[in-house]
Amino acid sequence: MFGKMKLDNLRALYLDELKDAYDFEHQILDGLPKMEKAATAEELKAAFREHRGETERQVGRLEQIFQGLGERADRKTCKGMKGLIAEAEEYIKARGDDDTRDASLIAAAQRIEHYEIAVYGTLKAYARVLGHQEQVRLLQQTLDEESKADRKLTELAEKGINVSAVA
Ligand code: FE
Ligand code: ZN
Ligand code: FE
Repeated sequence: MFGKMKLDNLRALYLDELKDAYDFEHQILDGLPKMEKAATAEELKAAFREHRGETERQVGRLEQIFQGLGERADRKTCKGMKGLIAEAEEYIKARGDDDTRDASLIAAAQRIEHYEIAVYGTLKAYARVLGHQEQVRLLQQTLDEESKADRKLTELAEKGINVSAVA
């Protein structure tokens, strides 16, 4: 049995949350190509492909942060993301109409982006109070990419994918 988590101070909590993020970004790296393959609309495929490239760079930023803290980059299983990816996989495997599947993939992907936005917002607040200005900057870059990915998905949904799925 694993021991209880020990959290003595905000630095320990920051490190724990960084390991969670480092894990979920890897889960997303594995998930995005499956979503790209399952998508039908070219623009949606492209959005997933583009965000995978960004996700690789986000992993790199987390590694820079671990390095800056003098800590090893470790993954701690993110159970929340496991659940979100499991839901995305149900949609990936679903049979039926292509437009409706695209709409379902957008729904799953936006849950994932919102989860990430929540975590990075918290991480940024911790980095700031701990006085790690360079890390605040790195986390803001990632936060901006997650927000942009989320807005792009909204745009694709509202521009046509949801409408096509109605019929
Ligand atoms: Fe991410
Ligand atoms: Zn998590
Ligand atoms: Fe993301």
